[in-house]
Amino acid sequence: MTIIVLFGAPGSGKGTQGALIAEKYGFLHLSTGLMLRDEVKKGSELGKEIDKYISKGDLVPNEMMCSILKEELNIYINEKGIIFDGFPRTISQAEFLDIILKENGLKIDLMVDIQADEDILIKRLIKRGTMSHRSDDTHDTILKRLKIYEKETKPIIDYYKKTNRYNSVVSINSIEDTFENIVNLIEHIEM
Ligand code: AMP
Repeated sequence: MTIIVLFGAPGSGKGTQGALIAEKYGFLHLSTGLMLRDEVKKGSELGKEIDKYISKGDLVPNEMMCSILKEELNIYINEKGIIFDGFPRTISQAEFLDIILKENGLKIDLMVDIQADEDILIKRLIKRGTMSHRSDDTHDTILKRLKIYEKETKPIIDYYKKTNRYNSVVSINSIEDTFENIVNLIEHIEM
């Protein structure tokens, strides 16, 4: 199974690129944000708990997130590939992912950081908010999520750099340009 981690700030285009990769390669697109929002929609006890964090723009606590992810991974273990979109978001999640993949005889085959400047991210997220009606795409929550990204998520970059697994593409031109650059990286995965 091929494991791809799409990394990047909110609004960097992980969701869009994840869907395109999934379509081209027949991999499963595992967006933790989408997964959590689905649980909230169900109205379950877990969903209610999750909503407290998401609606404020906070990260769901590591322990809760990791146990949800572990269950999901068990379901999809026979897929041709999995694209992680939105996970890991903290160093401890990155460590957890390595451990859980290893337990299943797997490893990250490609990690890609999709980079975009903050002013572009803010513009995209505000535009998305007017269309998607996501509870966390409001101006203040967007700024908070970007702050949390800088503090909690960005340090993961070093974690992958130290282990020579870091790759990046810039997402400033078209969706197609970014996709082409990612496909280039996927085509060079050593199997
Ligand atoms: P996203 O759709 O990836 O922007 O995620 C939306 C929200 O879901 C985030 O702002 C967090 O509240 C929550 N979330 C998604 N992935 C994670 C994660 N790996 N760890 C903690 N919270 C997450």
